[in-house]
Amino acid sequence: MKLYLKKLFIGLCILSAMFFFNLSGEEKIDPQLWEKAMKIHQEAIVIDTHCDTPMVMLDKGLDIGQKSDKNDLDLIRMEEGGLDAAFFAAFVANDLDQKKPAKKALEMIDEIYRQVEKYPDLAKMAFSAQDIRDIHRQGKRAILIGIENGGPLQGSLRLLRDYYRLGVRYITLTHNDSNDICDSSTAKTPKWNGVSPFGKEVIKEMNRLGMLIDVSHISDKALQDVLEVSEAPVFASHSSTRSICKAERNLGDDMIRALAKKGGVIQVTFCSFFVDQDYKNKAEQNEKIIEPEMAKLKEKYEDNPEAFWNEAIVLWKKVAPPAPKIEKLIDHIDHVVKLVGVDYVGLGSDYDGAGSYPVGLENVSGFPMITYHLLKRGYSEEDIKKILGGNFLRVFEKVIQISHSKH
Ligand SMILES: [Zn+2]
Repeated sequence: MKLYLKKLFIGLCILSAMFFFNLSGEEKIDPQLWEKAMKIHQEAIVIDTHCDTPMVMLDKGLDIGQKSDKNDLDLIRMEEGGLDAAFFAAFVANDLDQKKPAKKALEMIDEIYRQVEKYPDLAKMAFSAQDIRDIHRQGKRAILIGIENGGPLQGSLRLLRDYYRLGVRYITLTHNDSNDICDSSTAKTPKWNGVSPFGKEVIKEMNRLGMLIDVSHISDKALQDVLEVSEAPVFASHSSTRSICKAERNLGDDMIRALAKKGGVIQVTFCSFFVDQDYKNKAEQNEKIIEPEMAKLKEKYEDNPEAFWNEAIVLWKKVAPPAPKIEKLIDHIDHVVKLVGVDYVGLGSDYDGAGSYPVGLENVSGFPMITYHLLKRGYSEEDIKKILGGNFLRVFEKVIQISHSKH
């Protein structure tokens, strides 16, 4: 039965892809290559390390068990896209750092459990690399939790340990602003010139617990400090490369080399703004058109910055430039591979956290397109499986292994 469903799934994907691309005239899919790609995609453990879906679940009442066309990810489209595991980010904006960030994070974590437990036939919570492998074998989706921005720690290692006990397996040290852990790549002036003394304690405790350290969003100097203090490899859950698209949140070549040297992994993000330089330039122009409306939204949602993000994305879509081609995203993967090798790159979409993604990757059901294009670029089956999830699993396992050596 299962095999039959899988075959049906592959067939449907081929049909829909051919239909879509013939209509749009964008690209002609090679059916033989597609079939080969789908076989690889089905066998691989496909992992996405950054989805902002909890924000939509909590603030907009999204039900992840129902197929939706109002957001980027639900469990049904996850299955259609052959995405086996996703980290749901409990995102808490820096605006709340001095208010009640823990409350927001805990509410999001509750919402994730509540919804995943509602659909035991579709998905299961996962807390380790082994859990991901086991749930993949059962043909279900594995959902994991990360916290985006360390603000919800509220300066307490006790809260850090509580989050671990609640199943949180990574923390993105900060977001668009600096917090009490470290500086942000987009902060106007550095607060700590890297990682704060408290931040260093956080890193050591995360190593001991076996929690992954996410360096997306943090400043260049903060990354250097993290790599110096952390015994375990670290990763960037959703960052692409600065050489191709010059954005602070992306990683420069030196940063990628340092990350790889430590055994870590950069999970390229699909967000058009960080993928394509032309798109970014145009987007920055268009942003000016909606500036007054954006300011009003910010005021309206002063106490609920995540709700602001949800609305801001809707507003942003009205003036978004045409999405880049998927090849642009593959260029980032290529760049990392040429720079440090195929063992240090993976995928972190930022679905439900960004307003635009490359053509074909508009939502989570588009994942097979990546496999197809990697194959088209000449990547081997073995290398594709590493990129789709194998590299991340290696880092996750290493972090857990180092943690065990400390107990
Ligand atoms: Zn982010």
